[in-house]
Amino acid sequence: MAEETIFSKIINREIPADIVYEDDHALAFKDINPQAPVHLLIIPKQPIATINDIDDETAATVGHLYVVASKIAAEQGFAEDGYRCVMNCNEHGGQTVYHIHLHLLAGKPLGWPPY
Ligand code: IMP
Repeated sequence: MAEETIFSKIINREIPADIVYEDDHALAFKDINPQAPVHLLIIPKQPIATINDIDDETAATVGHLYVVASKIAAEQGFAEDGYRCVMNCNEHGGQTVYHIHLHLLAGKPLGWPPY
């Protein structure tokens, strides 16, 4: 189980966020420091600290984040052009908030590799 993070506060509406999608298990909102024309964060409502903490019990919750990404891509009209989903893990992965989150980046051709 993860410690309380800024993302828990967003889930609980203790701090504001530009929320674009919500259901019983997930929330999606705009990243405050966007790295692409579209940069959303899709998070589980259940706090899971890192990819290393995903297990068989939480696998469906994590898989659901990709269902949400696909729905948003269709709704916002960039599914055909394409997009990128990234989840960073720990220091070398560039993780700064220890509540797992899927970055959804879209709106232009994205460079690869990401460094
Ligand atoms: P990470 O580096 O993969 O952990 O990504 C954390 C992301 O959260 C970064 O892209 C930040 O810009 C973003 N972020 C941090 N605080 C907030 C916030 O309060 N609202 C929206 N995005 C945030």
